[in-house]
Amino acid sequence: MSWFKREHNQIQPTPDHEVRTEGLWTKCDACGKTLWKADLEANLQVCPSCGQHFKFGARERIDNLLEPGYELVDLELQSTDPLEFTDLKPYKARLIAARKKTGLNDAIVNAVGKIGEQDVVISAMEYGFIGGSMGAVVGETIARAVDRALAAKVPLIIISASGGARMMEGIASLMQLAKVSAGLAKMDDAKIPYISLMTDPTTGGVTASFAMLGDLNIAEPGALIGFAGPRVIEQTIRQKLPEGFQRSEFLLEHGFLDAIVARKDLKAYLAETLKWMTEKAV
Ligand SMILES: [Zn+2]
Repeated sequence: MSWFKREHNQIQPTPDHEVRTEGLWTKCDACGKTLWKADLEANLQVCPSCGQHFKFGARERIDNLLEPGYELVDLELQSTDPLEFTDLKPYKARLIAARKKTGLNDAIVNAVGKIGEQDVVISAMEYGFIGGSMGAVVGETIARAVDRALAAKVPLIIISASGGARMMEGIASLMQLAKVSAGLAKMDDAKIPYISLMTDPTTGGVTASFAMLGDLNIAEPGALIGFAGPRVIEQTIRQKLPEGFQRSEFLLEHGFLDAIVARKDLKAYLAETLKWMTEKAV
């Protein structure tokens, strides 16, 4: 018989003693360093220690790229839930929650303004809104950005951050692939430049349509870019995928991207690129 006996009394946390994870600090999931959120914000959501690019909101991106005095446009569109779809939650409830969380009507923001001296139209996707999924509103908003670029004859930049088509809108979301691609073909005819910037993640129907149709296809470092996810591909081809498969660096090496540009260099890169893209041939 032992002298001491340990009673199994498990500590039951009371609801008001739950650990709060939201605070002033966060941890980099790449290098494990503890980061002060204000530092991360000042560094455009890029880890100051290892350069890991975290997700960056659509409005913050626009604000970072365009000169002061730009205008946010086409914000009024809202999804009508055409299928009255319900999975774990009704789609209507998901939309309400996403609107509250992001302050946007859907997963996209259009803006008109200038990068340096150059007028541009930007369409930036918001991953925080139902995974940046593309339904009818995202498709229509991008189509309007294309129309604005065509009407004003100014370059278009689309910034993708998306899990793909929005399944809650079924075929209506898949139709956006064709609609946006047709609009971009018109830009091609009119010889107006379109730059596609892919950020983490750019997958599914977004990769399968406008994200890969740029006159220049560029990406942020380390972004996941692909059509189907790695697990689905592995199960289909029954092979192990190579290291870094579907990341920006792998895609650049294999000719799917034109460049990888760090977030802090993006504005200068775009200004320089737009200059030679819009130069009149002599
Ligand atoms: Zn890090």
